[in-house]
Amino acid sequence: MSDSQLAGLLSVQDLDVSIDQHRHRRQTLPERDELRAIDTQMDSLKAQSDRVTGALDVIARRESELEAELSATEQRAATVSRRLYGGEVSASRELQAMAADVETLKARASELEDQGLILLEEREPLDMTIDELAVQLGSLDLERAAVLGRLAEAEDKVDGEIASLIRDREESAAGIPADLLANYERLRARLGGVGAARLVGNHCDGCHLTLSSMELDRIRHLGDGEVFTCEQCSRILVPSKPSS
Ligand SMILES: [Zn+2]
Repeated sequence: MSDSQLAGLLSVQDLDVSIDQHRHRRQTLPERDELRAIDTQMDSLKAQSDRVTGALDVIARRESELEAELSATEQRAATVSRRLYGGEVSASRELQAMAADVETLKARASELEDQGLILLEEREPLDMTIDELAVQLGSLDLERAAVLGRLAEAEDKVDGEIASLIRDREESAAGIPADLLANYERLRARLGGVGAARLVGNHCDGCHLTLSSMELDRIRHLGDGEVFTCEQCSRILVPSKPSS
């Protein structure tokens, strides 16, 4: 293995680390946290809105029942009144009974009207709450769209950087023998993204352990085509200042 091929492998390693970091940054863009926070807030407001809508539906049902009963009561009162004053009935007992009926029906109608007013009072604050929730949800929706826009911009920027790094990586990898590259990929997958490490001074930069003087001697006198592997971490170890 030539020195330049090993140096090329280190370039590939550095670029792979950089690509991994960029992908991680893409996954953890702050806009994603902002979106999650907005969605949580919107979910909670929607749940609140659903509860209030449910309460309003109950009131609406009671209102329509009241209105139906009120209208029936008023019609009945009108019908009895017409007969009472229509002159067709002359028996005084019957007339008295009818007058009593009209009174009872009018009392019932007034009671139903009072109940309607109570329902109206119950409805007003709920209507206001629904309006307030709609305003809050509307402004969160706008905020969400703005964050989505910023997220797309940030993603595009990182994607551009990743594409450029991948092109550099392809260039650096082009000169490396396929079996060395395959070995590197296997090690990289197994060892947390680092398959090739520099020898820095007398220690492996992959596992940070010190090499024995025998190992150091071997790595300094590698023949052509030989690849040195760190005995501690199994990574491909590349001398940072290869002897020429
Ligand atoms: Zn090592």
